[in-house]
Amino acid sequence: MDEKRTMIKLENLNKSFGDLHVLKDINMVVKESDVVCLIGASGSGKSTLLRCLNFLEEKDSGHIWIEDEKIERSTHNINEIRQRVGMVFQHFNLFPHKTVLQNITEAPIHVRKINKVQAVQEARELLQKVGLADKENVYPNKLSGGQKQRVAIARALAMKPDIMLFDEPTSALDPELVGEVLATMKELAAEGMTMVVVTHEMGFAREVCDWVIYMHDGKIVEVGHPHEIFHEPKEERTKEFFNTVL
Ligand code: ADP
Ligand code: MG
Repeated sequence: MDEKRTMIKLENLNKSFGDLHVLKDINMVVKESDVVCLIGASGSGKSTLLRCLNFLEEKDSGHIWIEDEKIERSTHNINEIRQRVGMVFQHFNLFPHKTVLQNITEAPIHVRKINKVQAVQEARELLQKVGLADKENVYPNKLSGGQKQRVAIARALAMKPDIMLFDEPTSALDPELVGEVLATMKELAAEGMTMVVVTHEMGFAREVCDWVIYMHDGKIVEVGHPHEIFHEPKEERTKEFFNTVL
């Protein structure tokens, strides 16, 4: 019996850019505290799927549920929904003219409307958590890529999201900096955060993910537990993909 709450549900989600049909009848369910890895070749639609989940892109058809609520632009305040779904991008997207602390407190003060003292206190706790307590007054250009990404994670967490989306969070990093970001994500997963992670880090997928979803050409080809999908992929497409990346 599965008593875990459903956090995300997609039903027949479709998205095109002009003539390009990028997401084709996507169905998926993510339960509370699940860590789902989304893998697939470049151009298969992984980022578009995450962006639809965070309402940065508008779906063409199909349905999206976030925590048991069917979300439509016509009936929902998308900014409110977005607070519940944090997102971390490949290129960090920090505000360059703000300090680390200001990067983290900006949205809680202006969007969550908490007072500055509380925002600063929460931001300091998050910086502690991601191992950057000594960097609060530093500007992003003084940080390594791994540190920037950990600030970006702290900034997303400052909105107290129920779900975190990661779009290739370590792809822009020098190899020696990948581990510190994955460690932060692993910790978050262990705390029970519901996460959808687009990644090429197969070690992370194997070790941390509850489910792996393999996408090809806008479709979900195969879903499985990491040990199933890595060792005994059922679909020919999945086998071919692993032959190229493993
Ligand atoms: P992935 O993240 O798996 O590499 P994407 O979701 O970024 O794939 O892209 C899927 C396809 O959609 C690609 O062919 C890409 O060029 C196209 N695409 C993505 N975003 C846009 C956009 N805003 N306008 C037009 N085409 C886009
Ligand atoms: Mg992408």
